[in-house]
Amino acid sequence: MKKPESRMKTMVAAALTAVWLSTAMAQTPVVAPKNKYSPAEDVKLGVEAAQQVDKEMPVMRDEQVNSYLSAIGRRLAENIPPEFRHPEFRYTFTGVNVRDINAFALPGGPMFINRGMIEKAHTEGEVAGVMAHELSHVALRHGTAQQTKATPYAIGQIAGAIAGAIIGGTRGQILSQATQFGIGTYFMKFSREYEQQADILGSHIMADAGYDPRDMANVFKAIEKESGPGGPQWMSDHPNPGNRFEYINREAQLLKVNGATRDSRDFQQVQAYLRTLPKAPSMEELSKNSNAGRTSGGGGSVPDTRPSTGNIPRPDSRTQTYSEGNLFRVTVPSNWRELGSTNSVTFAPEGAYGTVNGGSVFTHGVEIGMNRSESHDLQTATDELLQSLRQSNPRLSASRGYDRVTVGGRQGAHTSVSNVSDLTGGQEAIDIYTTLLPDGSLFYVLGVAPREDYSAYSGVFRTVVRSIQFTR
Ligand SMILES: [Zn+2]
Repeated sequence: MKKPESRMKTMVAAALTAVWLSTAMAQTPVVAPKNKYSPAEDVKLGVEAAQQVDKEMPVMRDEQVNSYLSAIGRRLAENIPPEFRHPEFRYTFTGVNVRDINAFALPGGPMFINRGMIEKAHTEGEVAGVMAHELSHVALRHGTAQQTKATPYAIGQIAGAIAGAIIGGTRGQILSQATQFGIGTYFMKFSREYEQQADILGSHIMADAGYDPRDMANVFKAIEKESGPGGPQWMSDHPNPGNRFEYINREAQLLKVNGATRDSRDFQQVQAYLRTLPKAPSMEELSKNSNAGRTSGGGGSVPDTRPSTGNIPRPDSRTQTYSEGNLFRVTVPSNWRELGSTNSVTFAPEGAYGTVNGGSVFTHGVEIGMNRSESHDLQTATDELLQSLRQSNPRLSASRGYDRVTVGGRQGAHTSVSNVSDLTGGQEAIDIYTTLLPDGSLFYVLGVAPREDYSAYSGVFRTVVRSIQFTR
């Protein structure tokens, strides 16, 4: 005979299991990716990058705007699930006086929201949706997790790269006009996997904070449709993992979102207030002004130091070996200087490098860096690299095909293209060597020389590529 009590226990246990199951099925679980950095390092990186943002972007000191954003932000931050809370993190929410729809958050908590984002949102829920997504990247520590996967570079170099990426695209020309892409973008463009995580966690946070996650789906759809310059920027930093609109809506159905805040009086008021302010500039306008300032040397900016177009010393037959982060070693002619950049590393002879319109350029030498790729196919990834190069070098020729080579002991590709130098108007020859790294990113070496000097350089480029040894 069974004791009623034990039967009771079984029933309770069954009921508990049912509750547990329904909880487990209520929402998609999110697990923060592996991360070799400490939360304190996230904070340090974020603080440094935020200082750069303060210097380079028209950050708003407007009390009304910032306190409105902070009120939404705090409400969301308070609803970050306990497992993703880091006591070191300090979430701050600041407006940026730019018309383009965009927002970004830095490791450890500083978040910046473009004025255009608030102006173009239909509801407060839409603003909260973008913020919840950004907040989730921070809470899940995606910035440093991405580097755990990929970066060989020392922690100190990362802050600049992160800020470079933020300012990227338009003002990022300051950092890398020669190539217009680079490790900066590589760091901040999140993978589709991280995007989906930020969407899912963002939905949970929104629901817990009393917002409707469907507003996040709506705002992303609106941003995708936006043909203005701000839309694509946000989209390229936060690529749609596919079916974004559908899975966020599905997640919203699993969450309790009754009586959620969509619109609010504060939202109406802040929008009305923004309409009374002078129109915000676009990123493009800002970038033009900043470059104009640089060329004239005014406003405390650094005047151009154009590369010499005269005699460049021939590559020395003596060599010097450099160790780059803990990624690779490379040997170059001893009369080439190492030009550390946050985006990549360039080795060039004296007189062959400088800045033009605030962007760095070089006429002879090699640039070594990485380009993010999700193709997992060497030729496709190299084509993507050429595509990005062409954005800043519109007269770059197409590749006539690839040779198989070895780069750092890995299977690689080589191609030669030509370009017309903006600086001299002359023909440039560019040798491109690439290989895919284990994480799928593209490692590249660009050898650049004017057409008339190419015969003296192509062999040197080959020797430089042969010297490359990956050290991890
Ligand atoms: Zn994202």
